Amino acid sequence: MHFARFDRIRLAHLPTPLEPMNRLSDALNGPRLWIKRDDCTGMSTGGNKTRKLEFLMGEALAQKADVVITQGATQSNHVRQTAAFCARLGLECHAILEDRTQSKDPDYRMNGNVLLDALHGATVEHVPADTDMVAACETAAAELRSKGKTPYIIPGGGSNPVGALGYANCALELVNQANEMGLKISRLIHATGSAGTQAGLVTGLRALNSGIPLLGIGVRAPKEKQEANVFALAQKTAEKLGCPGIVSREDVVANTDYVGEGYGIPNAGTVEAIEMFARYEGILLDPVYSGKGAAGLIDLVRKNAFDAAENIVFLHTGGSAGLFGYRATFEEPRLVTLAA
Ligand SMILES: *Cc1c(COP(=O)(O)O)cnc(C)c1O
Repeated sequence: MHFARFDRIRLAHLPTPLEPMNRLSDALNGPRLWIKRDDCTGMSTGGNKTRKLEFLMGEALAQKADVVITQGATQSNHVRQTAAFCARLGLECHAILEDRTQSKDPDYRMNGNVLLDALHGATVEHVPADTDMVAACETAAAELRSKGKTPYIIPGGGSNPVGALGYANCALELVNQANEMGLKISRLIHATGSAGTQAGLVTGLRALNSGIPLLGIGVRAPKEKQEANVFALAQKTAEKLGCPGIVSREDVVANTDYVGEGYGIPNAGTVEAIEMFARYEGILLDPVYSGKGAAGLIDLVRKNAFDAAENIVFLHTGGSAGLFGYRATFEEPRLVTLAA
């Protein structure tokens, strides 16, 4: 876990705070809830992709790239953070956005992350749902090479072993914080999508022999597929870190009961979680990832999945810029009545 061996551009605001959520804990009358604020990583409203991009952009610069190609869904937080890194480092950014949700809402199509991609100067290409995004990146790269450019491709979500180093490093940061605070962490929970966050965390937590169980709340794929994706990437990440074989299959646990209708489609549980965090803690979640992750956390607390004495840490992976793409979702008065 000697991260200084890897190329890295240090642009994240680290360490991110680890804070108690007292009002939410009291409202739910469950275990003590804590939050690790990776929504505060600093680049263009923050989020989890920033830790990955420190290592990915480090490699891009080491390879003398002058343009970065990446991809995601229309309201991708990863694309927005990549565009911000490129702006900061003086590289071009070519973003390919997949119309994964097929939403016709003008806010979804133009506001939130899409507005910020353009503001950071990214070139944006929109493609239909179910486009082969890996091939689309390769095509864009070939075209840029033919123009004399040196492209660097970052996969969706920045989820490869290089990006996942950022979350192995986050495990180290979190365990150090907990030790300094005298906080015994019972469990770490977060939203899991393209798998890099969970793969990095599980590798780091294992390499440190932390004994902290990790739970990913899925936002897209079914459980088997999600866990297989995370495990495959964790194995490669462990190799990269010099501790091959350290993660076992049982260390990788995903709960995909909160996906709802599908990726990028919030349901009543998502909206309730976003409202509860906003009103009890003054913290902004998002409708695609952290809102679903928090909906899982809240539901599990209500189902008494945890002991009252436990300390549960929710990793806030960011995404609040996406709220502005979902204005209509919050237009109607909600079903939730919050206690005073
Ligand atoms: C990308 C993202 C996630 C999921 O992280 P992965 O590494 O892709 O699994 C969670 N929350 C937010 C806000 C994200 O943008």
